Amino acid sequence: MTVRKILTLSGDGIGPEVMTATRRVMDWFQAQDRIRFEISEGLIGGSSYDVHKIPLTDDTVARAKAADAVLFACIGGPKWDQLPYDVRPEKGLLRLRKEMGLFANLRPAIVMDALAGASSLKTDLVRGLDIMIVRELIGGIYFGEPRGVEQLPDGTRRGYNTQAYSTAEILRIAHVAFELARKRGKRLCSVDKANVMESGLVWREEITKLRNAQYPDVDLSHMYIDNCSMQLVRAPKQFDVIVTDNLFGDILSDLASMLTGSLGMLPSASLGAVGPDGRQPAMYEPVHGSAPDIAGKGIANPLAMILSFAMMLRYSFNLGTDADLLKRAVQNVLSSGVRTSDIAEPGQTAIGTTAMADAVVKELTKLAK
Ligand code: NAD
Repeated sequence: MTVRKILTLSGDGIGPEVMTATRRVMDWFQAQDRIRFEISEGLIGGSSYDVHKIPLTDDTVARAKAADAVLFACIGGPKWDQLPYDVRPEKGLLRLRKEMGLFANLRPAIVMDALAGASSLKTDLVRGLDIMIVRELIGGIYFGEPRGVEQLPDGTRRGYNTQAYSTAEILRIAHVAFELARKRGKRLCSVDKANVMESGLVWREEITKLRNAQYPDVDLSHMYIDNCSMQLVRAPKQFDVIVTDNLFGDILSDLASMLTGSLGMLPSASLGAVGPDGRQPAMYEPVHGSAPDIAGKGIANPLAMILSFAMMLRYSFNLGTDADLLKRAVQNVLSSGVRTSDIAEPGQTAIGTTAMADAVVKELTKLAK
């Protein structure tokens, strides 16, 4: 049996709690003799700063690159908020994504039936929702040069950033999105602001050319970002896969998250390019942050982290059946009324982080019989 090397990065706040809970689920899969993991642990964010005075060491970067997949929890917290920008916890995460070349961020927004009532939208608008947002992660305005703050002659200041996308950057993210669309409902919506931005025009034209050349079986549509924001809250089920740039994707994926009700439920995957050796750099992480307000209380919802592990099974290890099994176990647990406090409805008793992981493990055992 192939041994899969996984680097776990628990980070800060609730990170260690949700990671420990997820390890119980990983242990279950190992105990079934279906998968073998070699798991090692590393530091990132504030917990790395406390030991090394930097939020990410070269050694951790090297270990992340050598792993088959990285499982990351979350970073940040008030303890490190006053640090200089270049050693803040967030800087460690941005550097890791860049160093690993993780250009594609996959964020599913799925509404599980049992939680349809938790959405801020009307239940019938979101029941059965299953969309995938593909966000370009290491280009665009967050990284473009020139950038900076300049002092103007009149004593005021001017802050500026550059939005730019090359053909190569657009095509590599578009390929990921088309391939995903092919495995799902074969519909891809590309989102830009081509009516006022040149970078958006190039984005739109390159994606259209690629579709015509290589993906004629995928139904491609284009939408301006402002319209897409409206459509996501008006009729979200019209979408299958959405592909967009770094800035728009940052905002749209958070918006889509809220359609599903709770941050504690949302997984994500970040993927790089497949190398000549067939290996693809990959990191899996919940969408939520370190939740300092509940850290250490044992009440964090571990399901976003557990579902991130399910994405790892699917995308890094091609174990779709196991990923489906885990997803079904989570669905069944929720359907039986088991809840952590963030997703509990009035009248439901909330359980803690470990108990939720144990409920998933118990359900896995039941389903596997
Ligand atoms: P957050 O996601 O940490 O928390 C927002 C709210 O959601 C809080 O009330 C929190 O208790 C709740 N919540 C989040 N995850 C939960 C879970 N699993 N179970 C139950 N409730 C959960 O966002 P924030 O409060 O804006 O940021 C807190 C810190 O996290 C900041 O330092 C921020 O920079 C950092 N952050 C990190 C990441 C990351 O690591 N990828 C992402 C976002 C924010």
